[in-house]
Amino acid sequence: MRVVVIGAGGAGITAAIEAKRNNGDAEVIIVDKRKRIGFAPCALPYVLAGDIKSFDDIIEFPKNFIEEQGIKLLLEKTVIGINRSDKKVILDDNQELNYDSLILAVGSHSFIPPIKGVEGAELFTLKTIEDAEKLKARIDELKTKENPKAVVIGAGFIGLEMAFALAKNNINVSVIEVAPYILPVMLDEDFAKIVKEKIESDKLRIFCSEKVNSIEKNLVITDKSKYEFDLLVLATGVRANSDIAKNAGLEVNKGIVVNEFMQTSDKNIYACGDCIEINNIVLNKKNPSQLATTALRTGKIAGYNAVSNEKKSLKGVLNTAVTKIMGLTIASTGLTEFSATKNNIEFVKATISSKTREDYATKKNELIAKLIINKEKRIIGSQIIGDDEVVPMIDLLALAIKSGLSADELVMMEHAYSPLTSPVRSQISILAELCLKKLGVKKK
Ligand SMILES: Cc1cc2nc3c(=O)[nH]c(=O)nc-3n(C[C@H](O)[C@H](O)[C@H](O)COP(=O)(O)OP(=O)(O)OC[C@H]3O[C@@H](n4cnc5c(N)ncnc54)[C@H](O)[C@@H]3O)c2cc1C
Repeated sequence: MRVVVIGAGGAGITAAIEAKRNNGDAEVIIVDKRKRIGFAPCALPYVLAGDIKSFDDIIEFPKNFIEEQGIKLLLEKTVIGINRSDKKVILDDNQELNYDSLILAVGSHSFIPPIKGVEGAELFTLKTIEDAEKLKARIDELKTKENPKAVVIGAGFIGLEMAFALAKNNINVSVIEVAPYILPVMLDEDFAKIVKEKIESDKLRIFCSEKVNSIEKNLVITDKSKYEFDLLVLATGVRANSDIAKNAGLEVNKGIVVNEFMQTSDKNIYACGDCIEINNIVLNKKNPSQLATTALRTGKIAGYNAVSNEKKSLKGVLNTAVTKIMGLTIASTGLTEFSATKNNIEFVKATISSKTREDYATKKNELIAKLIINKEKRIIGSQIIGDDEVVPMIDLLALAIKSGLSADELVMMEHAYSPLTSPVRSQISILAELCLKKLGVKKK
């Protein structure tokens, strides 16, 4: 059988490897319009910041590794159409490729909002390694300029990671966000405020509740002020690449519609990664997830199912995410209070400000955490700010949400303790108990 994968990002490469692993006889071909593939997009801001030495260090899947798996790579070829009745994809050089199973892993593109003046502006976005190299060249040019200024539009995690990278390069950065607070998808206003206070400096200023009205030459004009720039970065989100699916008559909403087996509305065509809509486990509603971890997991399911009669499934995602800005690690999973309210879910929450180890431990870090539970005592969301120790905590809570655990179970959770490694009472357990108290549940 032949499996054709369109797209050599994290989702496509994972899908191809999984397909080949589960059916060594299958011919697996990846087609991508780009020449340079296999890099980690998430690492790009940190290369620009100088925390990772070079772009060469962030190649996760070298071409020879992919080919050694027995996968064929067709690079610098764009798929321009799908002929579903003949099960063929058409390439821009008029080549046609037959498939038995087709996997769409076509990713997403940077969204450019329709701001007045945006079309003529010299602006930068960050999606590919080429985008990052262009940005690096501009940053290097600015090193000779006195008091260089940058404006970043958008205070999601990519916008803030970029702002951090620019500030580390000695550029004065103004971040402009239309929402009332930063990281509005990951955090609620209370936690976003804490993060803003901790990451702002003379070099990095953040302005929320400000709408950009226009861009004129080297000026960004908002409804409240004007900002001069030598470098302008747009970090206003990404949108699913779904035209190819739409033109082939597949069902598409905000992304390509798939079932839990990653099958599109055509059972021989699978889709995965940034280009799809996926179920949110708590809300039971579909939306694009557009995280690397979602790309890899959906790619694995699509690749396996594309070559197997017995299908594997993925219930959905919680959009568990983490970012590191100015040395601060910020993580979240599940619903925020804002999203719970918007979806008419009644909840209680508890927050604590504590240390990662007992007071007597010499090395300990600050930790601020929030747990959100619903009226049925199920865990529905969490936000944690601190050091890298917050990552295993948020992962554990993601598993708790996915497994449908109740706050009672978290109160009684068993965890490892030693004076120099962890607190004797887990913060997660404390938070769960505080939530239950608010619900009026008595201790048994
Ligand atoms: C700067 C940045 C930082 C990020 N940080 C994080 C993070 O910290 N944590 C996290 O979880 N996620 C992060 N993400 C998101 C994560 O990188 C993406 O969710 C993930 O890479 C998506 O992978 P994908 O394979 O679905 O899509 P893509 O990486 O977009 O790959 C799609 C591929 O399809 C190809 N293609 C598209 N159309 C065609 C066509 N018609 N013919 C041929 N080829 C085609 C493209 O050339 C591309 O190579 C970050 C993203 C960026 C940009």
